[in-house]
Amino acid sequence: MEACKDCKFFLACEDGQGLCRRFPPQVAINQSGTFAVFPPMTNQGWCGEFAAKKGNEE
Ligand code: SF4
Repeated sequence: MEACKDCKFFLACEDGQGLCRRFPPQVAINQSGTFAVFPPMTNQGWCGEFAAKKGNEE
C-alpha cells in the first residue's frame, strides 16, 4: 500500500509522525516568529506526489 512511510520524500520522526520533503520548506509565521517548515505528515498519510523508496518499487 502506498503511504508516506514508504515514500522516498518522507523523513520519519517519532510516534508515527514525520516530515514531507517533496518540496522546499515553506515559510510559516506565528506569534513566536517566522519559520521555514516541511509539512508534517503521519506514517499513513499519502498524496499524489508519492514516490516509492529505492528498492521498494512495485
Ligand atoms: S505527502 Fe506525498 S510526497 Fe510527501 S511523503 Fe507523503 S506521499 Fe510522499
